[in-house]
Amino acid sequence: MFTSLRTRLWFTYALLIGGVLFIVGAVFFIFLIRNPPAARQAYLRLNLIADLIQRSEPALENATKDQITSALIRADQRLEARFAIFGPDGKLLVDSRAGSATAIPVQRISLNQAPLNPNLQYRDALGRYWLYTLRSLANGDVMLVSTIRPSTSLAQIRDDLRPLIQAGILALFLALFLGFWIARWISAPLQRMANEAHTIATGQYHPIPLEGPIEVKNLAGAINEMADKVQTSQKSQRDFVANVSHELKTPLTSIQGFAQAILDGTANTPESLRQAGQVIYSEADRMHRMVLDLLDLARLDAGTAEIVHSPLDIANLLSGVVDKMTPQARQAQVNLQADINTLPDFIGDGDRLAQVFTNLVDNAIKYTPSGGKVQLKASQVDGQVEISVSDTGSGIPPDELSHIFERFYQTDKSRRGGSGHGVGLGLAIAREIVLAHHGTITARSDPGQGSTFTVLLPVAHPDDSTLVKKGKNN
Ligand code: ADP
Repeated sequence: MFTSLRTRLWFTYALLIGGVLFIVGAVFFIFLIRNPPAARQAYLRLNLIADLIQRSEPALENATKDQITSALIRADQRLEARFAIFGPDGKLLVDSRAGSATAIPVQRISLNQAPLNPNLQYRDALGRYWLYTLRSLANGDVMLVSTIRPSTSLAQIRDDLRPLIQAGILALFLALFLGFWIARWISAPLQRMANEAHTIATGQYHPIPLEGPIEVKNLAGAINEMADKVQTSQKSQRDFVANVSHELKTPLTSIQGFAQAILDGTANTPESLRQAGQVIYSEADRMHRMVLDLLDLARLDAGTAEIVHSPLDIANLLSGVVDKMTPQARQAQVNLQADINTLPDFIGDGDRLAQVFTNLVDNAIKYTPSGGKVQLKASQVDGQVEISVSDTGSGIPPDELSHIFERFYQTDKSRRGGSGHGVGLGLAIAREIVLAHHGTITARSDPGQGSTFTVLLPVAHPDDSTLVKKGKNN
């Protein structure tokens, strides 16, 4: 029955309100029954009477016990108070209601009490409470003046409480209605969120409206954010698969075409056979390189690619890259220059970093027309090694600059570059390797003027204490 949040909340409110009303009612009921203001009033009256009688004591100085008794009985009838006199030994000598009321429980009355203690009371044999006050008399006796403690009858209480009970019932209904409304206010957005989450699971997505209490709003915001991320990641997965298929389709189609030509005899001269073989070989090689790159990326993504962190001479590594690329630059008639300052000891993966800078220099040469210049600079800046590769090539349009590190991204110009160009995975891999070294890679470009790629690598990283580590997340 109480499985939903709404009914539970509502039941809790009802229980709380009912509990509070019951406690307040019970305390009020006890207060009315005991009626402390009336008791205080009665006690003041008793003291006034006691003082009055005490003052008229000299008139009874030579009176007999019977005379005193009848005087007290008369006073009792007139003033409606019970009088008793105790001898110095605590013995009850006179009682104005002896015989007509229950006896005074003498043993429970301490005659040495402070006379003005308002809490003095005794309980008679019928269970009624009597308030009393004491006065010492000149002859050493003690006078007790008492009256039944006033209390309110149940019928009277019922009358007094009626408006209060009515107001209580009204408040209870009002509170139950409000409780129901509040429970709905809290639970409705949660229910909507659950429905939305179901819709997201089926592939449709509508952002959840941010309403209800702040915590519920925060939860809705977090779910929206998560759904956005899931969508983005699903989209990039779809794009990735589409890109891979596209990149594989082109070489496969040309391999298929040339193989067909060999099989059906269309390529029948030694020259055309050689050309078909050459195309099949270079397309297969391109696919092979792409698959290797994809495997590499997958390993870097999963953190299973081995990144060796060992001390290395980065200046030496960069000179090696420049030496290796010089023949390619010479062939492209591009002037490749190096400006490498003294660099601090560095810890990292030499092969992987060489892969990054080879890719940057390779791109720079590829996208720089003959007669252009490519420069590799390295220096130490604020505890970091800064390596930049700049060229005087075609440059990258500003709207494409932010995408070039994405997988398979190629600018329109480079797509037309022919089979010598890659498939747009080089910079994505370079970025993963730099990230695995806790560094950053950025690109700047003025279209028509050239581009500059800058890699910043921290010299010492706290994680580098162990020399051999695995994966970018280590
Ligand atoms: P690719 O294998 O196509 O070179 P990369 O990931 O290395 O792939 O580069 C992605 C794209 O970035 C390239 O296709 C090219 O459009 C652009 N790019 C990279 N380097 C340069 C450069 N130095 N000058 C101009 N464009 C560049």
